[in-house]
Amino acid sequence: MNLDHDTSPGGAGPSRGMSPAASAGTVSNDLVAANRILAGLGVLDGFGHVSVRHPDRPDRYLMSRACPPEHVEAGDIMAFDLDSAPLDGDLRTPYLERFIHGRIYASRPDVRAVVHSHAPAVVPFAASSVPLAPISHMASFLGGDVPVFEMREHFGMTDLLIRDNDQGARLAEAVADGAVVLMRGHGFCAVGRDLPEAVFRAHYTQQNADLQHRAIGLGGAVKYLSPCECELATRTNRQVMGRPWALWKSKFVAALD
Ligand SMILES: [Zn+2]
Repeated sequence: MNLDHDTSPGGAGPSRGMSPAASAGTVSNDLVAANRILAGLGVLDGFGHVSVRHPDRPDRYLMSRACPPEHVEAGDIMAFDLDSAPLDGDLRTPYLERFIHGRIYASRPDVRAVVHSHAPAVVPFAASSVPLAPISHMASFLGGDVPVFEMREHFGMTDLLIRDNDQGARLAEAVADGAVVLMRGHGFCAVGRDLPEAVFRAHYTQQNADLQHRAIGLGGAVKYLSPCECELATRTNRQVMGRPWALWKSKFVAALD
């Protein structure tokens, strides 16, 4: 799925008519909000992380220092180059798996936000021969084959974490031009053209996995969205993506406003 640029509400990136300074501040605040929202939705717990490409320097990205996403505040945000080296002499401890983010940004100029999650509802679909497939219109972005990254295929026996740029690059290859990649024995990543879209996709990936599991448990044949239904639903979802983002901000980050 190509993430072609559009100007629909919730679909645009940093070109919403904001000045560079306002854009940088907005993006930083939205990154704090995204951390709180993803923790509130159960997509992230004590682990996992979310990042955003720097709005003025596409060769950089922003992400919290290593801490629980629910606790992230503006002062925790660090800047990294696309090799995931901390910038500005920042000596705080970064997330171990930051290489996921740097390598995806390096390979996908269209991506401006990345979520990495260990959500338990999704992990079975990365380990099973049953593929994750769109069962709900809200997860229409899962249309087509959702790739599964197999760490063992490239690096043998590991602790399954993405610990360096080589491992991050292999994962980015698996993402290809898609919206989501599953990681066997580990979790998944969702990407987007901005934070609301990446958060939307991460949340509805988790929800779709739960719904699909329930449908399979009923025991009958399961009917998934067709490619055409996915395309039509994706167009609609892009028009309304701002609504859940606004709800989640008011619900989980009201104290920041
Ligand atoms: Zn992880």
